[in-house]
Amino acid sequence: MQIAYTVEEVRKQVKEWKKEGLTVGLVPTMGYLHEGHASLMKKAVEQCDRVVTSVFLNPIQFAPNEDLESYPRDFEADCKLCDSIGVNLVFHPEPSEMYAPDFCTSVNMDILTTTLCGKSRPTHFGGVCTVVNKLFNIVAPDRAFFGQKDAQQLAVIRRMVRDLNMDIEIVGCPIIREEDGLAKSSRNTYLNSEERQAALILSKAIFMGQQMVADGETSAKAVRDAMVAKIESEPLAKIDYVEVVDGITMQPVETVASPTLVAIAVYVGKTRLIDNFIVD
Ligand code: AMP
Repeated sequence: MQIAYTVEEVRKQVKEWKKEGLTVGLVPTMGYLHEGHASLMKKAVEQCDRVVTSVFLNPIQFAPNEDLESYPRDFEADCKLCDSIGVNLVFHPEPSEMYAPDFCTSVNMDILTTTLCGKSRPTHFGGVCTVVNKLFNIVAPDRAFFGQKDAQQLAVIRRMVRDLNMDIEIVGCPIIREEDGLAKSSRNTYLNSEERQAALILSKAIFMGQQMVADGETSAKAVRDAMVAKIESEPLAKIDYVEVVDGITMQPVETVASPTLVAIAVYVGKTRLIDNFIVD
C-alpha cells in the first residue's frame, strides 16, 4: 500500500491506473478509522479496481469553537486498517498541501444546508463541499463512498455532484453500529464510561422512531415528540435537534413518506453525537 502526502504523488499514481483502464474508488475520511470507515473501504475494494482513502482532518469544516484540536488521530493504526482491507493508496496531506495561504475559492450550497447540522454548524458544509470537491479533482475517482451515518452530508454531496455535473458515482453505505446500538464514530472516544452508557439514548430513540413508522405512524410531529421525550429522559443528554425532513431537500415535512429522513444531534456531556434513519 502506497502512502502519498502530496497532490502530485496522487495524480501521478492515478494517471498510471487510468492508463491501464482501471477504475478508481475514493473514500474520504478524517482519520481515526473504525469499522464504519472499514465498511466503506470494503465496498470500494469490491466495486473498484483501485481504492484511495484520504485521511485529512479538514480545518475549514470546523468552526473556531469546535473540536479540531482535540479530534483523535492515529495515522499508523489507520494505515494498518487500510492495508488489511486492500486499499491501494492512502492520501494524507498536511493542511498546507491542501490550502495555499491565499486560498480564497470555495463551494457553498443553499437550502439543503440550512437545516439539521447546517443550522447549528453554519460554516460546516461549505468546508465539506470545498474539500470533497478538491479531493474529487485530485483523485478523479469513478466512484466515491460516503456513510449514511452523516445523512445530510451524503445528500449534500449527491446534490453537489448533480448540480455541478461531476462525473462521479456516489455510493451511500449503511450505518455501522456497536453491538449495543451506538453508531460508530471517531468522537465516541471522547465519552467517559457514564457518558458512553448515556449515549445509548440516541440509538434507542432512533430504533423507537423507526418502530413507530414501521407500525404505521405517519405524523412527523408524533414521531418527533416521542423521540424528544425519550431523549429527554436521559439526564446527561441535551438535544441539539430532532428533525423529520425530506430525504432529498432536507426541509421539514409534516407527513412521514418515502424518502423521509429522521435525524438527531444530541450532546452527551460535551460530546455532540448524531444518528438517523431513512424511511424508504
Ligand atoms: P469521518 O471520518 O467522520 O469524516 O467519516 C468518513 C466517512 O465515514 C463518512 O462518509 C462517514 O459518513 C462514514 N462513517 C463514519 N462513521 C460511520 C458509521 N458508523 N457507519 C457508516 N459510515 C460511517
